[in-house]
This record gives sequence, structure tokens and C-alpha cells, in this order.
Amino acid sequence: MEKLQQTIIEEGVALSDTVLKVDKFLNHQIDPQLMQEIGKEFVKRFKNKKITKIVTLESSGIAPAVMAGLILDVPVVFARKKKSLTLKDGLITSTVYSYTKQETNDISISKKFLSEDDHVLIIDDFLANGQAALALIDIVEKTNAKVTGIGIVIEKAFQDGGDILRSKGYQIESLARIKSLENETIEFINEKEYAK
Ligand code: 5GP
Repeated sequence: MEKLQQTIIEEGVALSDTVLKVDKFLNHQIDPQLMQEIGKEFVKRFKNKKITKIVTLESSGIAPAVMAGLILDVPVVFARKKKSLTLKDGLITSTVYSYTKQETNDISISKKFLSEDDHVLIIDDFLANGQAALALIDIVEKTNAKVTGIGIVIEKAFQDGGDILRSKGYQIESLARIKSLENETIEFINEKEYAK
């Protein structure tokens, strides 16, 4: 997605060879216009698929997920990273190991928001090693709902997550695919190259 790539080049910072900071438009401050474009692009890429719900992970997945949910007119459910006082019972939980933070966390969704009749589009901000997406898939499948596909705003294609998820047969649509962050330079896999 051209506009997203351009924004990443202008506003993104390669913090190291593996971590990209995008807090100017996605991870802290949010660019609503860009989020709207992202929502439209996800809807376009999954246009022939049945989707009854969008599932994401708090907090940075919520903005792009809500934009897609608005267009599709379906609810958006975000998995929570911490248990809240009002969210105790009837939880479906999975475990995410974060390579960036080097810690393991449980994420949960209340059972009442997913059922076996649901067709779920999973959306997240980043795909790196795939742990977050795998945990979201695990939660959705524990409810016997179906995973329709996975929409990712930024895929770091030099890490394993994309290969792991595609080899399991899921349709993954990443709006920007990064080839490398080496030497503080952000290099993309261009979409034509990816289509080969
Ligand atoms: P994974 O589980 O695929 O290894 O990592 C995905 C999750 O880690 C995303 O939900 C995202 O929050 C975070 N993440 C992974 N890599 C990056 C990165 O380079 N930059 C930022 N801002 N977040 C990342």
C-alpha cells in the first residue's frame, strides 16, 4: 500500500536491525486518515470472504481494526493483555511470547463475544515472529469460530511469522512488507516482487 509505505519512510525509525518505531502514526499518536485508508485496503483484500467479526490485540491493533469493522459493519473484539476487574469469568486465554520484550503474557477474550457461527478476520499492527497472531488464532479456534484471514499493517518479512502462518494455510494480507531494517534503512519488498 503506497501511502502506508510512504508514511513509514517519512515517519518510521529503524531502532535496530529488527525493530521499527512507528509511534507517530500507529503505536502512540494515530493518524486517522491513514487508518481509514488501511481499513479500506483490508476490506478490499478480503472482499470475497465472509466476515462476521474482527479480532485484534490491544492496543495498537484497535485503530486499524475499527476502521475495517466500520466499513464491514461488523463488531471488533480486542484481546486484552491484562485481566480487568470487570473481566474475570468466561475467558478464553492463550499465551504470547514476545521476542522484543522477552516475556510471556496471557491474552484473553470473553467467551460471550465469539461463537462457532463466527467468521473472523484477525487484524494486528505488526507481524514479526507470529506469536501474537498464533495466540489470536488459538483463541478464535478454541471457540470453534473460523479464521477467515489475517490482516497485518506492517510485516517484517525477514522474521519467521509470515512463513509460519502461510504454511498453515491462512490467507495473510500485509499492507507493507519490510525486507530489511539494516543500517537504519527501511527496505520494502515491493508488491510485484511478492506476487511472483
Ligand atoms: P510477533 O508476535 O509476530 O513476534 O510480534 C508482533 C507483536 O509484537 C505486535 O503485536 C507488535 O505489537 C509487536 N512488534 C513486533 N515487532 C515490532 C516492531 O518492530 N515495532 C513495533 N512497534 N512493534 C512490534
